[in-house]
Amino acid sequence: MHRMSMARSPLTGLAVLLALAGCGSGRTEAPPPAPSAGPGGTATSSATRVMEVPAMEAFDRALANGTRARSGEPGPRYWQQWADYRLAAELNPVSKRLTGTAAIRYHNRSPDTLGVVYVQLLHNIFAPGSRHNTDVPWAVEGYQLSRVAAQGAALAEGKGEGAGYEVDGTIMRIRLPEPIPPGGTADLDFAYRIRIPPDGAPRGGQDGEVYYISYWYPQMAVYDDVNGWQTDQYYGNAEFYMGYGNYDVALTVPAGWLVSSTGTLTNAAEVLSAQTRARLDSAMSAPEIVHVVTEADRGAGKATAAGTDGKLTWRFRAENVRDVAWGASAGYLWDATNAEVGDADGDGGPDTTRVDALWRPEMRTSHWDRAARYGRHSVEFLSEYLWPYPYPHMTAVDGPTSCGGMEYPMMTCIGGQWDTLTMYEVVVHEIAHMWHPMQIGSDEKRFAWMDEGFAQFTQSQAMPDFFRGYDDEAENREPYLNLAITGGEVELMRHGDRYPNYTTYGTASYYKTATALVALRGVLGRETFERAFREYGRRWQYKHPVPYDFFNTVEDVSGRDLSWFWRTWFFETWKLDQAIDTVATVGDSVEVVVENLGRAPMPVHLEVTRAEGEPQRVEIPVSAWFAGQKRASVRIPREPAIRGIELDPEREFPDVDRGNGRWPR
Ligand SMILES: [Zn+2]
Repeated sequence: MHRMSMARSPLTGLAVLLALAGCGSGRTEAPPPAPSAGPGGTATSSATRVMEVPAMEAFDRALANGTRARSGEPGPRYWQQWADYRLAAELNPVSKRLTGTAAIRYHNRSPDTLGVVYVQLLHNIFAPGSRHNTDVPWAVEGYQLSRVAAQGAALAEGKGEGAGYEVDGTIMRIRLPEPIPPGGTADLDFAYRIRIPPDGAPRGGQDGEVYYISYWYPQMAVYDDVNGWQTDQYYGNAEFYMGYGNYDVALTVPAGWLVSSTGTLTNAAEVLSAQTRARLDSAMSAPEIVHVVTEADRGAGKATAAGTDGKLTWRFRAENVRDVAWGASAGYLWDATNAEVGDADGDGGPDTTRVDALWRPEMRTSHWDRAARYGRHSVEFLSEYLWPYPYPHMTAVDGPTSCGGMEYPMMTCIGGQWDTLTMYEVVVHEIAHMWHPMQIGSDEKRFAWMDEGFAQFTQSQAMPDFFRGYDDEAENREPYLNLAITGGEVELMRHGDRYPNYTTYGTASYYKTATALVALRGVLGRETFERAFREYGRRWQYKHPVPYDFFNTVEDVSGRDLSWFWRTWFFETWKLDQAIDTVATVGDSVEVVVENLGRAPMPVHLEVTRAEGEPQRVEIPVSAWFAGQKRASVRIPREPAIRGIELDPEREFPDVDRGNGRWPR
């Protein structure tokens, strides 16, 4: 999701004053603890001294079980569940209801026999009296279930011993008629009705013209090798954890409406007019944006087929995805183009994906006429920076305002008003999510930073490629520093529903994480960092990593013990404040003394400018701080005459007071 309601802004005068007051008072934080020594240098064991991270013990068990490896790779006994979905739904825009059936074949690839399975009914956040921590429109309704069946037997709701089901908020617990053995499958069937919530609902809904249908079908909860069943409620703030599966979807809407969904449209000849199909085909090779459906083309018998009974059923197939969502409206225009993604299918040749934008003409004020171009740049840039975009299309859909910017596999729903910069930003942010978490299927609820922070970081790599000279990394650093300086920060290894407020959640999950990755790049060097970042993706593509898999992979690739880095930036709220203390001549040398006024241990990057020659780089290793020292020094030649010394001139490290990092001051 795109960060809303906390505008990023340049460092304000107030923040500068606070920085000076905070650091000029001479107060320093306690020294960092001594690092662990010996073989305990891996992220895993450093984490064991780091306090309550519920996943930790479970992760160590996973290591012992061989489902995870200390190197950060999936272990030799890694397993993952699977589900095949057949979904059918009809949208009635008059009643604003969706009537659906879901047939799920759940594959138990775990070594455990499962007598109970859990299903997510995320739409129940709209049920009367639901528990939630974000705004939810008043009195919508939750799932109206008319059939729940397992293994061919209809189930009744209620507690008890035999087969049946219970619903608690957004989680359904099904007691199966027969347990599923390892390697076995179970069929689940549902028939249901939901009401599409009005604008104001998080991440989708309808405003009377456009419908964005998300969290609209019963979906298997994740059962994984680390934590078993993940049955956390959906309260609105923390996002999702979803397993992978294949989907066959049939969506019935009024004829003339355009539908865009996760997956590939498999019956284009039945639902699209010949003109629309021809234009879509041309978009796969056209160098420019193709206007597939213009204002004049809209309607049944023009953009779409004529339909029978005034309806059309659109069929989509999506493979190895963690969710399906779709947008539909009678008012959409459709722009399409293509993006070159590199060798996505591994056959050695370049691959192309289609990039779509569906939007209402009045949303031209939000620069939707540029959305397809923005999407193309985002897909192409990120395919190169990370790895090739693997899906058949990437579509931006103009949705109700409260979509903000929200990601779904192959799809983003974007609502509200944007200028050209922020429109590009929201498009690239959501498209960055096509890698994290769509392909790298982390638990967004418990580790929001693995999703939002990684998307935020990768968006910042794309933005200066589109807007030359734009420093999006600085835009992430400043809100983090502002909160760190005022002392209101909360550490980011925390469940997304357990932050004191949205500012602390957003700062930790988006800005601090993105900033920490820049700092990690500064520690490792760009080449090693990017190699590790991609290797983490390669290892965990379409799988379920936890934080230690990321930490361990970076250590494995870089060959470094980074326990100090993880602890500082992921488990603590220690601040970084390096200062140049003294610069003194000692014989033929100059001794530069750097003081660590904060608690964060980081290497010291100095740039020395002399009367002649190129600026010189000098580093004091991070180990200088490990025994709790507050000062560290380095000697450099006295000649040629030193004109100036600056700490971290590339601004890779988020120092709370840069004013004391220069000599002369
Ligand atoms: Zn996001």
